[in-house]
Amino acid sequence: MQTTVEIEETKEQGEKQARVLPAPLAALNRVSWNYWWSWSPDGVAVFRDLDPAVWEECEHNPRKLLEKISEFRLMQMAIDPVYTRRVAKLAAKFDDYVNPKSESWAKNAVKELTPANPVAYFCAEYGIHNSLPLYSGGLGMLAGDHLKSASDLGLPLVAIGLLYRYGYFRQRLTRDGWQEEHYGEFAPSELSMRPVLDEAGAHVTVEVFMRGRNVRASAWRVDVGRVPLYLLDTNIPENDPTDCWVTGHLYGGDRETRIVQEMMLGLGGVRLLRRLGYEPQVFHLNEGHSALLTLELARELVEEQGVGFAEAARRVRERCVFTTHTPVAAGNDEFDPALLDQCLGETYWQSLGLTREEFLSIGRVRPDEATEFFGMTPLAIKMSRSTNGVSRKHGEVSQELWRELWPESMTAAAVPITYVTNGVHAPTWVAPNLRALYTERIGKNWMQKLHDPKRWAKGIGRISDEELWQAHRLLKQRLVAFIRQRSTHAREKRGESAAYVESAGVMFDPESLIVGFARRVAGYKRWSLLLADTERLSRLINDAERPVQFVFAGKAHPQDQGAKLVLQQLARWKLDPSVMRRAVFLEDYDQEMARQLVQSVDVWMNVPRRPLEASGTSGQKVAMNGGLNFSVLDGWWLEGYDGTNGWAIGDTTAHEPVETPGVVTPEDMKDAESLYRVLEEEIVPAFYERDETGLPRRWVRMMKRSLETLAPAFSSDRMVQEYAQRIYLDERQ
Ligand SMILES: *Cc1c(COP(=O)(O)O)cnc(C)c1O
Repeated sequence: MQTTVEIEETKEQGEKQARVLPAPLAALNRVSWNYWWSWSPDGVAVFRDLDPAVWEECEHNPRKLLEKISEFRLMQMAIDPVYTRRVAKLAAKFDDYVNPKSESWAKNAVKELTPANPVAYFCAEYGIHNSLPLYSGGLGMLAGDHLKSASDLGLPLVAIGLLYRYGYFRQRLTRDGWQEEHYGEFAPSELSMRPVLDEAGAHVTVEVFMRGRNVRASAWRVDVGRVPLYLLDTNIPENDPTDCWVTGHLYGGDRETRIVQEMMLGLGGVRLLRRLGYEPQVFHLNEGHSALLTLELARELVEEQGVGFAEAARRVRERCVFTTHTPVAAGNDEFDPALLDQCLGETYWQSLGLTREEFLSIGRVRPDEATEFFGMTPLAIKMSRSTNGVSRKHGEVSQELWRELWPESMTAAAVPITYVTNGVHAPTWVAPNLRALYTERIGKNWMQKLHDPKRWAKGIGRISDEELWQAHRLLKQRLVAFIRQRSTHAREKRGESAAYVESAGVMFDPESLIVGFARRVAGYKRWSLLLADTERLSRLINDAERPVQFVFAGKAHPQDQGAKLVLQQLARWKLDPSVMRRAVFLEDYDQEMARQLVQSVDVWMNVPRRPLEASGTSGQKVAMNGGLNFSVLDGWWLEGYDGTNGWAIGDTTAHEPVETPGVVTPEDMKDAESLYRVLEEEIVPAFYERDETGLPRRWVRMMKRSLETLAPAFSSDRMVQEYAQRIYLDERQ
């Protein structure tokens, strides 16, 4: 396989460009090229401590840090024996990680998957680290955590994605609370990614014919531990200027941009894997955006081996597995046939040995329904041997939703759509001081113990109430400092009055209850439900003895005016002098902010309209840090909640679908009533109930129940193990 050669060469080129570091710090260069640093115990701190101010300025990007740091500071640190010892330790750990001495989980558990025949994982977005802005929300975060767990478990997996030159937008609110989007351009040379080079040292490219012309994309490689993530980038001089924008923005364009992006991801992605010599055993389509890859695999068989399409499709199906993330038909990607004519064109269906009608029918639920659009989900389902949802409930919803794809006689329950409930990557999301506590009480191998719920629970039992509470209090103090700092900056930037800027410095009290709510501002997430009864909410916030504090964050889709109005309503409400000190909206939600919030809040709230939260993962991150979930029984929480480890809002009946965002229906009011009641009668009293030493004994017991029951079940290690054993390896064999 030529991949080995190619990797060595890219390494050389990368290091040639890099600044030469003083010998005791030289290893930092090597470590900075692999995002492993971002989840290794001292990784973040080693880079940050090199120069905290520059670290912030560079938005936690170690490649930039190493370029920008002053020569003097570098030398100061190079002669600091305590610091250089940390660097040496980190580098040794890194080398052990990438070339492990002991056998990995996957080596024994899934022998059939090998480096030459790995899993090829396709996704339109990846949330690896906040310095790599290739994600918009949950889907990307999940993909990032999937790669990290695959790496930790030694699962042979290569990932394919797109390099969006302008990434996802940065959010800013105007003085009257209206969301503005800003796109920053980033240069690959500033990030931990390297060009993929061929034997002759030239940048590897692939070509896809779209919109009547050939479009080239160059390939970049990002190392996520032991997993390579390859990104395709059309921003190269050989392309027509329009085509340079194919990989411009993540979800920023129109339908046409979307289809050409999906062509590059699916068709270009398979071509790149071939170019690099990979023969994947399984292709994992994480959401429908990459579904065209199945047709590329079929084309290879039809064009290169002379196989008929039906037989080709049968063979492709044996190698593809599909994960759906959307619980409503409207949320699925679908395209107008006229657009397909224009972007794919007739040479495309001809290359599959199909007529236009035959081709279009593959993407339809009802093959003969000429008015039906071409859907990526029907395509993916038809061309994969396995389809799964991302929680038990979502699996059931998907069976119902896609039932028509199977014979009429089949009941929804018999539809062969299964589920693998999402999970999150503990080393990425658990706060450093809690990691230290877990190491001390549960053991150095606390992450492995997550695989064994009994041993994990035993370990949690060894943590004293006092030390857990103390660690959590420190995290709350950090959160309050973070809120004050972010708010001060945001207010200054908006040119607010001096008094208002200054007031940010005294907002929030770390000893009082803090409730967090952060996620995309989308209709079904029901942000408006929070403000359903602002008077009652104000009473909770303004209680002199037992106040409740709220921290909000989230982005609205650039084209979603309704969601922006909801944001504005919230932004205006929090300006009410009576709530200003205890409620805040933090701008520009990203992975770093998510970390600050999920590691520190007392309570995490989620109020989706049932059953539209396919899974949700942010509450899982909270649970791993000892926070308590307070959510609608939907997605993962329906599986996680057991009556002792958090709270439920409302019941489990399905809501009527609602088209208009921001509308509060009578059903919503019922849930709002439940929300306020549980807050008033259960959460607030439990939090403020203290024993003679000032400890909220009952609360801490719940924190431990939450840690004990939820952390193992909702870790991405468990998720990836399930994918490997149940989905990647064909269960039926
Ligand atoms: C975890 C995470 C999400 C997922 O949020 P849910 O509302 O739980 O789906 C979205 N965005 C960021 C930045 C995250 O870290």
